[in-house]
Amino acid sequence: MNATSVNSNANTSTVIQVAVPVPLARVFDYDCDQAPAVGTRVQVPFGARQVVGFCMGAVPTPAASEFKRKAVSKVLDEQPVLSEPVWELLQWAADYYQHPVGEVLAHGLPVLLRQGEAASYQTTQAYQATPAGQQLELNELRNARQQQRLLAALRSGSLLRRDIVAQEYSLSALKALQEKELIEAYQHQPSAERDWTFAIGSEPLQLNPEQALAVAAIGAAQQPQPYLLEGVTGSGKTEVYLQAMAEVLRKGKQVLVIVPEIGLTPQTLRRFQKRFAVPIVMLHSALSDRERLDAWLDAKNGAAAIVIGTRSAIFTPFSQLGMIVVDEEHDSSLKQQEGFRYHARDLAVVRGHKERVPVILGSATPSLESINNVSQKRYAHLQLTQRAGQARPTRHMVVDIKQMPLKAGLSVPLIERMREELERGQQVLVFINRRGFAPALLCHECGWLAQCRRCDAYYTVHQRQQQLQCHHCGDQLRIPAQCHDCGSTQLVGRGVGTEQLEQTLTELFPDFPVLRIDRDSTRRKGSLQKHLADATENKFPLLVGTQMIAKGHHFPHVTLVAMLDIDGALYSSDFRAAERLGQLITQVAGRAGRASAPGTVVLQTHHPEHDLLQDLIHNGYAAFARSLLRERELTQLPPFGQLALFRAEAHEAQHAQAALQAIADQLPRHPQLMVLGPMPAVMERRAGRYRYQLLLQCQQRGLRQQILQHSLPQLQQLPELRRVRWSLDVDPQDF
Ligand code: ADP
Ligand code: ZN
Ligand code: ZN
Repeated sequence: MNATSVNSNANTSTVIQVAVPVPLARVFDYDCDQAPAVGTRVQVPFGARQVVGFCMGAVPTPAASEFKRKAVSKVLDEQPVLSEPVWELLQWAADYYQHPVGEVLAHGLPVLLRQGEAASYQTTQAYQATPAGQQLELNELRNARQQQRLLAALRSGSLLRRDIVAQEYSLSALKALQEKELIEAYQHQPSAERDWTFAIGSEPLQLNPEQALAVAAIGAAQQPQPYLLEGVTGSGKTEVYLQAMAEVLRKGKQVLVIVPEIGLTPQTLRRFQKRFAVPIVMLHSALSDRERLDAWLDAKNGAAAIVIGTRSAIFTPFSQLGMIVVDEEHDSSLKQQEGFRYHARDLAVVRGHKERVPVILGSATPSLESINNVSQKRYAHLQLTQRAGQARPTRHMVVDIKQMPLKAGLSVPLIERMREELERGQQVLVFINRRGFAPALLCHECGWLAQCRRCDAYYTVHQRQQQLQCHHCGDQLRIPAQCHDCGSTQLVGRGVGTEQLEQTLTELFPDFPVLRIDRDSTRRKGSLQKHLADATENKFPLLVGTQMIAKGHHFPHVTLVAMLDIDGALYSSDFRAAERLGQLITQVAGRAGRASAPGTVVLQTHHPEHDLLQDLIHNGYAAFARSLLRERELTQLPPFGQLALFRAEAHEAQHAQAALQAIADQLPRHPQLMVLGPMPAVMERRAGRYRYQLLLQCQQRGLRQQILQHSLPQLQQLPELRRVRWSLDVDPQDF
């Protein structure tokens, strides 16, 4: 190559800045022989790899570089791949959460687009009934219910494979029907067209006055704004969402619905599908990468009217977004707990503001943050104080279990109450937040407790599998025959888990079948749905469950709910423990008495006189939360103080400690900045690593942001950080 061609080449090529998905808070310069638009994806060499990054703009006057600048390998898009509002939202989030922009942008994309696939549809697998399938007498499949159900659905219209998965039809039924040639697969070509018009599937309910007021307020607003819809469990919040959404859909606009992890069920989907005859996509974990991309494209080009998804759905682009709904806005699964640690509720509010659309945050037990935003007039307040339909409020009964004999955690007054209820044909739910048989294995002779090799935690005894399991690192081993210290064979489980409770209840109430719902009993795909359906239909008079059943599900026949042990949370060191306990008790209580029979909640405790408990029981969650809020104000904790948490972990405790000490030393001194630590995490050792943390507490958010922004570039250079895994969590939730 001669000198002139090099020169002319240099003149026509541009230098662009590229954000690549690496944990570095900077962009990189690359030569490019075209000038791609900001926001298009480019494939570039990075180290020894090829990675997909984003063009962030041209470098106006590239500095002459001593080393050879690398060149873009390929420009992947003709147009920016994200919509403008989502692009801005991601930039905002990278800035607010102080997370490397390349990683944040990658996070906003479906996996296939992160890997460089084209942002376009391919044909997708769909199924339809064959003429034989159309004519078959459905009754002939009465011994194959799953097949019957699926065939019935396909006879009324073909279905994409991803919809069959979303609605949890059995895939073996699908295969069987195909083998019998009652249905057939074909390749469906999705259209990038928006081809729906608003249509109602079933008539809306007649709203009660509070609901009507809420729907009217949202519809009549001059300025789009956030709303906190605070409605006791069973007050009909979902009906308010549906009717507020109807107005938006009627105008041809789209709606984004964010639900907590546990809320993303076929029941949720069915409820929306029943009301609206418009295309609805559900973004959930069972989708293949291709199905997820298709759903994403449907939202982006307007083909989907409603998108329902968990927290990451907040980054879905829409062609015409008209409203965002965040259900159970207090739920901790809305906060991402690793990597890019964003809060989907907070981003929903930011997005609503940027896109000028209303945001409805709904909960029976709102977060203190949202309650405070109401009193600061940042959110409008909508209240539903009555249960909808015929459901009546629940009663509380506190059982003081001091010095009482307990049978698998159950006191005699509770057992008696349960018996009464069961004999009247009602359903009883016992809540305990420990799965397994017992939370620890104890030597009865010497007091030795089986401790995880890799964590500061005891092994949980799982009797059915004859295993000890660590719920923190996943370590598993056979239950030992002898004590490690004294050799005794007198090993016993200490404490109570769901498995033991199930066993004891079976012995106490042999005539009443027990159903256990926890992570162990619902491991098989679809089994959670089946258990929930069985519970709802009162096939099991006795229900035992963990967190999993605390939220959202309706058990209309349950009239008694018992919580066995609530004391841990009353004296926890976590400043959010009281808020979480109030939410949990209220949510669990909300499972009772949803139909016409009134419900009772039994709380067993050693501290019946505890202020928090009394406040919650006598004044209800709303008043309880407001008194917690006053305490937070006195202690300058969120939402009054602004927190940021540095975490570090390493095989050597002193490395983790030293890294955080180095950070603490580098931070500027400021009268309004408090730095606490380094201190060990609540569980200091986990999976063989020592974990430390450093807490920053600031009175003002702006100041916290400024301090982080100024310090991070230097902090990242600290040699002490090279020996540890570290991260920054802005607005940390659990620590
Ligand atoms: P939430 O989401 O507040 O827990 P839901 O919206 O699930 O409550 O409503 C609880 C129950 O009350 C549902 O069975 C729902 O169909 C019913 N419901 C809601 N609104 C009304 C109404 N206006 N009239 C009659 N029933 C209603
Ligand atoms: Zn022993
Ligand atoms: Zn462990």
